[in-house]
Amino acid sequence: MNMGSDEKITALRNPSPLQRVSGARKRAAARVISELCTGCRICVQTCPSNSITIVESDLNFTGIAQVDESCTGCNICAIDCPWTGVEMVNPDGSRKDEADYERQLKRLRGYQ
Ligand code: SF4
Ligand code: SF4
Repeated sequence: MNMGSDEKITALRNPSPLQRVSGARKRAAARVISELCTGCRICVQTCPSNSITIVESDLNFTGIAQVDESCTGCNICAIDCPWTGVEMVNPDGSRKDEADYERQLKRLRGYQ
């Protein structure tokens, strides 16, 4: 199917849900470590993409955070979580920049 230039611009500005999902998976994304999350809701308030909600859990009475597919991988929640309850994970499942990430967390928490 041939698209005119106006149609191409419209398609780029309004990607289908499928395009958005596959785009997001090329970047690292936040993942909540359920056992460490206290449900304090700090990450819900600081996430610029509104990608985090609190869901019910058997692990505590306040629930735990859950990250959805709109996460841009900005890292803010991982830095802000006082309980180190968020880790940044690459699409292949590995931790993002492990050494830098640990240094960043320690610095922000005043350990170095
Ligand atoms: S800031 Fe950390 S402990 Fe608080 S809700 Fe988010 S992931 Fe859980
Ligand atoms: S990495 Fe950024 S966009 Fe993703 S959930 Fe955390 S604060 Fe939100």
